[in-house]
Amino acid sequence: MNNEIVIPSNLNIEDLITEAKTYVKKSDLDLIRLAFDFADKAHEGQKRKTGEPYIIHPLSAAYILAKMKIEVTIIVAALMHDVPEDTEVTLEDIEKNFGKDTASMIRGITKLGKLKYRGVERYIENLRKMFVAMAEDVRVMIIKFADRTHNLMTLDAQPPNKQYRIALESLEIYAPIANRLGMGEFKGMMEDLAFPYINPKEFKKTKEIRNKGLEVASGELDNIMIKAKEELKKARIPFNDVHGREKRLYSLYQKLLRKEWGSDKIYDMVAIRIILPSIADCYAALGVLHKLWKPLKGRIKDYIAQPKPNGYKSLHTTVFCEGGKTVEFQIRTKDMHDEAEYGVAAHWHYDEKGVRSNVNKHISWAKELANIQNEVLNNLSDLEEMKLDFFQSRIFVFTPQGDVIDLPENATPIDFAYAIHTDVGNKCNGAKVNDQLISLDTSLKNGDVIEIITDKNRKGPSPDWLKTVKTHGAKTKIRTELNKMKGPVWLKTIFKK
Ligand code: MN
Repeated sequence: MNNEIVIPSNLNIEDLITEAKTYVKKSDLDLIRLAFDFADKAHEGQKRKTGEPYIIHPLSAAYILAKMKIEVTIIVAALMHDVPEDTEVTLEDIEKNFGKDTASMIRGITKLGKLKYRGVERYIENLRKMFVAMAEDVRVMIIKFADRTHNLMTLDAQPPNKQYRIALESLEIYAPIANRLGMGEFKGMMEDLAFPYINPKEFKKTKEIRNKGLEVASGELDNIMIKAKEELKKARIPFNDVHGREKRLYSLYQKLLRKEWGSDKIYDMVAIRIILPSIADCYAALGVLHKLWKPLKGRIKDYIAQPKPNGYKSLHTTVFCEGGKTVEFQIRTKDMHDEAEYGVAAHWHYDEKGVRSNVNKHISWAKELANIQNEVLNNLSDLEEMKLDFFQSRIFVFTPQGDVIDLPENATPIDFAYAIHTDVGNKCNGAKVNDQLISLDTSLKNGDVIEIITDKNRKGPSPDWLKTVKTHGAKTKIRTELNKMKGPVWLKTIFKK
């Protein structure tokens, strides 16, 4: 029933090409082959813990992305994502062969580095790095999700303590971020893959409940779908697709916990999805269903008029079908469907020249990022007693070009100026935050876009700045410059007299 992504056994480049063929240009297929050959050669002789040749891992990550019909540049970068970290081949080599944009995505992944799990600081540090990487280029996260998903698929090859940590991190950090980015497919896959490593007993129990539910539903569901299609045709409502979907295991588990394991209170263990051409068709289809079957009170949800916070749009209704069985319908357009499955990736378009988004987009993205950060931090359970303040006390701010700088909380424009370049700090004469002129001792906030106004005739930093700057780097640079301004030591001794 579900179109669960399964990696073919003995996966090879032709499997990837077959998938990519369904939606990328022919010339881009050659690019995929080139990237594969490049990575294959670089990883030659390397093996994974599973005993397979290493290339199977990046190839699998790329395959998952192709299954989701994600744009070709991301697939190309995914194929080479471990090359600079694990082989002799460098980022410069990649840039020479595949261009700046691809190299910059891979640089992002490499910066994230291999998670090495050395205590709490390391964990938090990784989290911080992840947000920086995401702020710089959200495509890096998309590759990271594919990378992580395949690592979870092959987690059995790892020692138990590592299994638990990777699974927990996927559940607590990666899945919520994927969810916030509207990438339901990645969220669902990572959760279901991590679940058995976190709580094997409850995983088993949930699976049993779902299997029982499916047994009851399967035959009837087909009949209900046939009936629904007939009625839509009669009413002359065009539709693209009608299909069944099973509730994901982990999301079923969460619901079971909320309902104290009362599986009879779960109405959407299976659901029927109807995909239609337009929003008007969606409402029309809802009307047809309600004329045919009585809706359950309080179960009609209009997420088209009022989308969920992560942007999810659909109409949901639960109806009493033949024999009093309840079935949930999810009604949406093709665009809504793609967006629900693939989120930001579904419309991650670059313009012709490959130019990145403008400043305004950066501001809204930065705000979004701050929300995601808070949400993830609020949901962390095992990390609570850990040194969260280290992470919480960091903010991400942006240059007008969209480069991200991370600073401690309450940092000032002076800290920002010195973080960019010593000269920018020394010549700093004013600052604009989000296009507003502000004083140089203002505390910056997460997501601010900062423009430093420099004056090349300025002699140097003001000693007062030392009282307000927060970063060690800025302090040191200001002191050094102030000392230089005071002139050589011998001159000072003369003037003292
Ligand atoms: Mn990898």
